[in-house]
Amino acid sequence: MAKTLDIVPVGEWGFFTLPRPMVIAGPCSAESEEQVLETARGLAAWGIHMFRAGIWKPRTHPGCFEGVGTPGLKWLKKVKAETGMKVCTEVANEKHVYECLKHGVDMLWIGARTSANPFLMQEIADALQDTDIPVLVKNPVNPDLDLWIGALERLNRAGVRKLGVIHRGFSTISSRPYRNAPGWQIAVELRTRIPELPIFADPSHMGGDRKYLQELSQRAMDLGFEGLMIESHCNPAVALSDAKQQLVPSELQTLIESLIIREKDSVDEDYREGIGQLRSRIDYIDEDLLKEFGARMEVSRKIGAYKRDHNVAIVQTTRWDAVMEGMKEKARAYGLSEKFIEDVFNAIHEESIRIQNGVLSEGPEA
Ligand code: PEP
Ligand code: MN
Repeated sequence: MAKTLDIVPVGEWGFFTLPRPMVIAGPCSAESEEQVLETARGLAAWGIHMFRAGIWKPRTHPGCFEGVGTPGLKWLKKVKAETGMKVCTEVANEKHVYECLKHGVDMLWIGARTSANPFLMQEIADALQDTDIPVLVKNPVNPDLDLWIGALERLNRAGVRKLGVIHRGFSTISSRPYRNAPGWQIAVELRTRIPELPIFADPSHMGGDRKYLQELSQRAMDLGFEGLMIESHCNPAVALSDAKQQLVPSELQTLIESLIIREKDSVDEDYREGIGQLRSRIDYIDEDLLKEFGARMEVSRKIGAYKRDHNVAIVQTTRWDAVMEGMKEKARAYGLSEKFIEDVFNAIHEESIRIQNGVLSEGPEA
């Protein structure tokens, strides 16, 4: 797909040190000067370069702690002066942007509830015109890749070229055991469409509980994401928001050091030859699958004509249920998951019905 965004590579922003993961850490919310500084000191002590803290908090219910607002930006300034770390916070409207620019915030992020709203995204993009500040855009709360890309496009058109994303999972009916369903495939599809866009995972909001941070962080690294944004608080037990998912800085250090970082690629000759052979096998198999799909749909077309000529309805659910059950049974023998087989055969069935409907609307053969 054509390149859609004009982006400055993350390595040139001057914020993050390689190797992976690039880590952004800090409390869900800035609560007090002491809490912000103590957490920042704990993180700076082992090499974190980018500090996060929410200043304006989008909360589900009114009356919850909604952030300290502009006064908290002064605490972020102190973090910079004392530790040398860069600082970032969430903005959700133009006023937030202006306040951050005035107070020397180094990077902004857009929250999931905001990236889902094109009016707010446009307002923020307009406020960022002619600035050079990097912006990370969280995925919208709903799993809509185009809405996510649209938010990035609005910023990019306003001249924001230091752009990246944060993948924090999606609100869906069932996200168990996590707070938000990971929906990894959406971030992977984004990587395919815009490969130069750096991706940070946010295992804190994805997991919703510190017990999931390790597995989600490792998964993000295995998928080749560049970084992680993780919440860290000097005393999570008394945190005013997201207490269950925050780690003290030393626990976060242990987590980060435990991650296994695999190379994105290898120059090793044996590896290249091996992977080349495997890929060409896959290409042959995919081509066979295409041929078989074509043959199968041809039979569907014939069945459609046959049903039409005998005045029989197209969908017979009992037959399809039996076919599906049989397929699942056989699939097990091939080591294929039921979910996969169900998804594939439902797609095939849908296409088959579409073809048969087409035959029906063509009318009987002359
Ligand atoms: C946050 O990062 O503190 C936050 C509110 O996250 P999200 O927008 O992902 O819910
Ligand atoms: Mn939070």
